[in-house]
Amino acid sequence: MGNEFIYAQPVKIFFGEGKFQELGKVLDEQGVSRCVIACGKHFAPTARELMDKESRIVAVFGGVEQNPQLSGVIETTRLAREHKADAVIGIGGGSSIDTAKFAAAIALDGHEAIEYYRGERPFPAKRLTIIAVPTTAGTGSEVTQVSVVSHVTEKKTINNPAFMPKAAIVDPLLMLSVPPRTTMNTGLDAMAHALEGYWSKNHQPIPDLMAIEAVRLILGNLETAYRDGGNREARGNMALASLLGGLSFALPKTAASHACSYPLSEDYHLPHGEACAFTLDSLVRINADERLEYLAKAVGLRDTAELAERIRAFKEMAGLRSRLGDLGEVDLDKLCRDCAAHPLMNNNPVKMTEEKLREMFEALR
Ligand code: NAD
Repeated sequence: MGNEFIYAQPVKIFFGEGKFQELGKVLDEQGVSRCVIACGKHFAPTARELMDKESRIVAVFGGVEQNPQLSGVIETTRLAREHKADAVIGIGGGSSIDTAKFAAAIALDGHEAIEYYRGERPFPAKRLTIIAVPTTAGTGSEVTQVSVVSHVTEKKTINNPAFMPKAAIVDPLLMLSVPPRTTMNTGLDAMAHALEGYWSKNHQPIPDLMAIEAVRLILGNLETAYRDGGNREARGNMALASLLGGLSFALPKTAASHACSYPLSEDYHLPHGEACAFTLDSLVRINADERLEYLAKAVGLRDTAELAERIRAFKEMAGLRSRLGDLGEVDLDKLCRDCAAHPLMNNNPVKMTEEKLREMFEALR
């Protein structure tokens, strides 16, 4: 694509320790008068306390689960419709933000969530304001037009402008309580976003710069955030890395490690970050080229082999599943077939055929 690109980033980002305390100002600025919160059980008490203090918060759905189900979207939509809300706030990891996005996109319409999920009808032109408050440093969902929702066993990524938040409040203080293993999973998800945005066939100069800085921050801070969750400097740097990771892939989209993460989550129940990390170091080796070598040197490493090794070491540090034997009984034919068929695989710079995927997974026995 030479030097031609179109870059746009429509989300107003409020970043910094304590920014969540300014939620009222953000609601003022966005002209919100009645809003619903979607969150998981960790933040449900905080959300209910907020509702007592802030009269514009009219309802809370506190039941979002990991790999969020469409049922959570249906419930959040029901609350938004019933309370005539004009905004939905997602407070939590990617699961809560994605639930809020989907509900906000369909609430002004009378149709069922499943019809949109199945692609049977286009998302309505009018939607509620989306405000994203990430509490994990990983998905970058606060700056993407993506919502990942599961229905029964199918996990589906829907990419639609209807899901773009109007505002994001990124407050590292909300992330101090993330448990160590989730810190590692989500931190490696951010690493996967930065690397995949960077090596995606659709990479662009501005996201490239953010990707390099995200990788540098993760290499320098993930271990501390994992071992010492209360370390505010490390949490702040990981929050920034996650945001930059989101901006790195929002336009170029992700590639092979994300394509492989879907079958690994659906069939072997790995959380999203762990599923992305499963193949990430292998793919650093497979996708190694001059550009990736440039990134490795720019973040202070010797070469791409050291980058792959640092990712492998992070996984080992937290005991993440990283070999086929860790997954139980594996149907390798199906795994390779499903990974190869995922649309994101087409963004990978090296063509990953079923055969090549088999070779990669065989090396992880
Ligand atoms: P998550 O939202 O599923 O949260 C993981 C766990 O951590 C949950 O149990 C949650 O309650 C808990 N948690 C979250 N914040 C916490 C905190 N501050 N303290 C204590 N516990 C906390 O995990 P995630 O990795 O943030 O999100 C994963 C989901 O996001 C997946 O469904 C993935 O596919 C999706 N995703 C979406 C995008 C996007 O652009 N929309 C990008 C990447 C991933």
